[in-house]
Amino acid sequence: MRTKIVFSEKCLSYGAWHIEGPNRVKLAHEILRAEGYEFLEPTPASEEDLLKIHDSDYIWTLKKSMVEDPDTPAYDNIFEYAKNSAGGAIMAAKTNGFSLMRPPGHHAGIYGAALGVNTRGFCYLNNVAIAVKHLNKSALVLDIDGHHGNGTQEIFFGNKRVTFISLHRYPYYPGTGAYSESNCLNFPLPANCGEKVYLKTLDKALNMKSINPFEIVAVSAGFDTHRGDLASLALTENSYRKIGRKIAALNKPTFFVLEGGYMGDKNGKDINQLLRGFEDK
Ligand SMILES: [Zn+2]
Repeated sequence: MRTKIVFSEKCLSYGAWHIEGPNRVKLAHEILRAEGYEFLEPTPASEEDLLKIHDSDYIWTLKKSMVEDPDTPAYDNIFEYAKNSAGGAIMAAKTNGFSLMRPPGHHAGIYGAALGVNTRGFCYLNNVAIAVKHLNKSALVLDIDGHHGNGTQEIFFGNKRVTFISLHRYPYYPGTGAYSESNCLNFPLPANCGEKVYLKTLDKALNMKSINPFEIVAVSAGFDTHRGDLASLALTENSYRKIGRKIAALNKPTFFVLEGGYMGDKNGKDINQLLRGFEDK
């Protein structure tokens, strides 16, 4: 069965000047529509869902748009946009779909910026964590964005129902993820390491004995690992197809949530390949 894409045009109406702008999602939407995917319109996440992951004071400041930092501007109505994106992740979780929404989420920790950094790296709410918590099932959270998912690590640290695996460029923003701790298995990779090293590392990661039993797989799907993108590991379109096959081989209900990927039309092609690889099985 084809994976459905969760998408709302509402996520395109802010931040056109920012690197994490609407074009990256708009172009991906056009490409995936041309590829014949079916789309689902998300509903916003409830405050109850947000408060299961984030501190209530932080949610209050987000509601008031008092969140200005260099990476996450205090856009008008950012709380609504962030709730829509979190709602997209929840819908993807319920339908084993792919949430093609923004803003992304994996740098957002319990209190906003995760411990040890001053910025939220384009993220306001941790969409993937909110969706995992909503399903309330044991999960393997696989973060293939090129940056370490420090917010997700902070949220799930020590949680025996979750294993967090992250492959990311290091040393790089946000500076965390150099080593594994507790249930958080980190695989730092040098810049532009290339597909061969990447896939070998992914195999190693997915076969770790320390992975807790899990019912579902949640993928923080970032594409800034594409050659020349913000956190390049020199992957190509075809690399994502191979990654998709490896995720499928886990043989568990799976959903995907968009994180990074900043090269216009590349995102859509990479998403298509990831999902085709996932469906090749
Ligand atoms: Zn990233």
